[in-house]
Amino acid sequence: MDMDALTYRHYTNTYFDTRGFVACGKGPSFTETIIKGIAPGGGLFVPQVLPRFTLKELAALVDCSYPQLAAYVFKRFGVDLPDETIDSLMQTAYGDNFDDPAITPVRTLAPGKHVLELWHGPTSAFKDMALQCLPVFFSAAIEQQRLEQGSGPTEDFLILVATSGDTGKAALEGFADRAHTGVIVFYPHGGVSDIQFKQMATQLGDNVGVFGVRGNFDDCQTAVKGAFSDETFNAELAATHRLRLSSANSINWGRLLPQVVYYMSAYLQLIARDEIACGDKIDVCVPTGNFGNILAAWYAKEIGVPIEQLICASNDNRVLTDFINTGTYDITERPFILTPSPSMDILVSSNLERQLFELCGRNSALIQDWMDKLRTERRFTVDRETFAALRSHFSADWVSADESLTTIHEVFKAYQYLIDPHTAVAWKAAERLRGVNPVIIVSTAHWAKFGANVFRALSRIPAGKPLPDWFGTLTDVRLNAHVSAIWGAAPPPPRLSSLDAAPIRFAEVIDGTIEAVEQAALQTLANWHSPV
Ligand SMILES: *Cc1c(COP(=O)(O)O)cnc(C)c1O
Repeated sequence: MDMDALTYRHYTNTYFDTRGFVACGKGPSFTETIIKGIAPGGGLFVPQVLPRFTLKELAALVDCSYPQLAAYVFKRFGVDLPDETIDSLMQTAYGDNFDDPAITPVRTLAPGKHVLELWHGPTSAFKDMALQCLPVFFSAAIEQQRLEQGSGPTEDFLILVATSGDTGKAALEGFADRAHTGVIVFYPHGGVSDIQFKQMATQLGDNVGVFGVRGNFDDCQTAVKGAFSDETFNAELAATHRLRLSSANSINWGRLLPQVVYYMSAYLQLIARDEIACGDKIDVCVPTGNFGNILAAWYAKEIGVPIEQLICASNDNRVLTDFINTGTYDITERPFILTPSPSMDILVSSNLERQLFELCGRNSALIQDWMDKLRTERRFTVDRETFAALRSHFSADWVSADESLTTIHEVFKAYQYLIDPHTAVAWKAAERLRGVNPVIIVSTAHWAKFGANVFRALSRIPAGKPLPDWFGTLTDVRLNAHVSAIWGAAPPPPRLSSLDAAPIRFAEVIDGTIEAVEQAALQTLANWHSPV
């Protein structure tokens, strides 16, 4: 490593609030933003200063390990922790909890066509990239705050998560046995897949809890949000357990920053393998839901990774495709459609607010106006300059449910490489929109997390149609075993294939009410604190 190219000035970055309620110059530091999560007026935190990497600096990082690279990026973003602390936290976040030493390996399938695999973590989906990292920094942030406060009263944090599937398991794995935190997850009973249920219900750790909720995901989320804003409940948690609630959700900057790292890593891997020369432009295509992943790609571009086109890929819920193509975000008459890529079934993409803030000249009055319109009229249109800025970085397309399954089949036939339905959406959009540059297609889940739809794809059964009788009775683990046996695909990792044998720890189902959620949380806390 050329250390001369890697000297940086240590500084502490502070954060803007996209809606401007935090006075300029009074912004929080990194550790403060991750504990706060959201700004007081409902806005999102954005770093005041963005580092700029030169090509020489990028070239000097080619031989870094993933945790070294992640630590370097955090330092360049002015994270307010000592360098040695950042180094050691990154070793914890990105170590043998991942099943590939590259952490996010890039697979080259054809000249100029690369797949960035973000599913080598403990839950086999990309949420691990952020949720293996945020919790270790969250614990460290709490410790740092205590040191600064001296000997006053201390509190720990209880993370409550409402999940439609993947986020719940990733949050459980991330926070399990992390100091000063506990995590309780609520999912819609009967609304998650067999494999997602087993991943959550078998979770190990002394500070975790999982509950099914009668109702759909909306009921579940409404009940959990209700608990957050119930002052009596918050007061009781503080008084009897010294706990404060936190959500650690995808708008937390501590989930976004770790995602910038893998775009840089992908670029450096391509240089290391002589697929590209340092400075060559690439395109990136991201299967998008809440806009977190693709926003991280934009930040990577902004700080100096030579990315030209950011391709935003949607499924049938194509509000973002329409927005990027017209400048109007409109959910007035948009039905919510269930697709084979459920983690992208989203109509309000919360991280888009950060992107618009960055593209409109960091003008919080504009953001407030647009977000007010979205709330009251369910649509807004950005101004001409912001639209031009958006178009200069992004292109967008959407891919139907059946097209995504057909793509899984086509890619497998061509390359013997099995992709999941989310990745398939990106693959197809990249095929349609990529230019002359090499393209990185972002792969967000292992195929075996969505085995039933992969089975449909390979058997040419349309989306939404039932599986053949006998296959329909199998557990997801056994169905996946058949998928690998019949088509000769690499078997799923042990952490997925062993789930039928793992003991179920959490199978309780509660009502979808605020009271039931609060009761469940208090009961869980009583168990944590009772000596076993
Ligand atoms: C969360 C998720 C996405 C969407 O990512 P965003 O950051 O919300 O845009 C895509 N694919 C999978 C598998 C996911 O879990």
